[in-house]
Amino acid sequence: MAENTNQKKKLGLTTKIFIGLIAGALLGVILNIFVPSGYVKDTIIIEGVFYIIGQGFIRLMQMLVVPLVFCSLVCGSMSIGDTKKLGNVGVRTLIFYLFTTALAITVALLVGNLINPGIGLDMSAVQQASTEIATQEAASFADTILNIIPTNIFNGLSSGTMLQIIFFALFLGIILAKLGDRAGIVSNFFSQFNDIMMEMTMMVMAVAPFGVFCLIARTFSTLGFSAFIPMLKYMGAVLLALAIQCFIVYLGLLKVFTGLNPFIFIRNFFPVMAFGFSTATSNATIPLSIETLAAKMGVSKKISSFTIPLGATINMDGTAIMQGVAVVFAAQAFGIDLTMVDYITVIGTATLASIGTAGIPSVGLITLTMVFNAVGLPVQAIALIMGIDRILDMTRTAVNITGDAVCTTIVANMNKSLDREVFRLSRQKTK
Ligand code: ASP
Repeated sequence: MAENTNQKKKLGLTTKIFIGLIAGALLGVILNIFVPSGYVKDTIIIEGVFYIIGQGFIRLMQMLVVPLVFCSLVCGSMSIGDTKKLGNVGVRTLIFYLFTTALAITVALLVGNLINPGIGLDMSAVQQASTEIATQEAASFADTILNIIPTNIFNGLSSGTMLQIIFFALFLGIILAKLGDRAGIVSNFFSQFNDIMMEMTMMVMAVAPFGVFCLIARTFSTLGFSAFIPMLKYMGAVLLALAIQCFIVYLGLLKVFTGLNPFIFIRNFFPVMAFGFSTATSNATIPLSIETLAAKMGVSKKISSFTIPLGATINMDGTAIMQGVAVVFAAQAFGIDLTMVDYITVIGTATLASIGTAGIPSVGLITLTMVFNAVGLPVQAIALIMGIDRILDMTRTAVNITGDAVCTTIVANMNKSLDREVFRLSRQKTK
């Protein structure tokens, strides 16, 4: 019952964000075409109301980044630390989760570079009122690696140096897991702080419709129609990369490692995907996913009760895909050339960002900040993406949880915990 009400609330927010998006775009285009420039339009509306509310919303999101990622990573790595208890299952699951995520970002970067979503969009027009474009300093490869280790974690935290924060958080989480009850109070502190940050995220998201309205309205009133095509291309690129990951990478891996029929698998798992899609929340799908894998695919709950919640916490391939395409989009829109080292950094950071993304709506957009920071892209580009993120959030959540389910089935098969008879029966039932 409670879940139902929750779901309704979330769907309500989605609808509101869409309304904000469309109304903002329309108003922006009307202002751009029909209203002549002047004090009221430029200073009061565009650079006043739209700018303050839009940037205010971005700042709220940015405010969440450091504490949210830090706590979420400490908690995530605490559960990774636990994997020792599960030996083989833990290690195999982790390898598959990390491997599929790195693969996902690679697919995203390739698709992004193929579709070139940001070319033709001149973001510098929208940019001028905010901070200047971050000029990239070409740090050497050795320095890039060394910079991951903080010499003072408090400096890292206060300046938001994400790789250092991630490094320290992972370290801390692993030690907390190792110490177990001896560090129970600190572990609980981080778990509770993590819950608090998730709640704060939900509250910030409640003002998203207004934030999205103003951000989009400002963009379109400055750029007019020229922003439509790049945005559609960005959406198309993300959706295409998600489809490749889901239907080619996952189903290919499933076929190779288990020999199960991928189409039956997807059909059996479809209700869970639909649930993930409608709620945009991996966490909410955990029980249904475990049940479906047990009842229709024959995956032992001994495996899935560990791997599915872990996956919902640390394995976000769909999110990583959105981040990969977003990097290409922003770099092109701001005319920033990315080097090979940048691309490798993106693969590394987005894999870590995926671990740090909580399985609730829109967090992928927050952790995107850290990927942008890692390669010196201006976070203002997120403003444009934010407007259309909701639909992508829903779609990537469906892919996130499919990735967890596929890896779980493969690991179950490797650990002889897959009852093929159940899968075969589920196949016959539909005939
Ligand atoms: N909504 C996603 C999930 O729950 C996370 C994200 O990408 O924002 O899986």
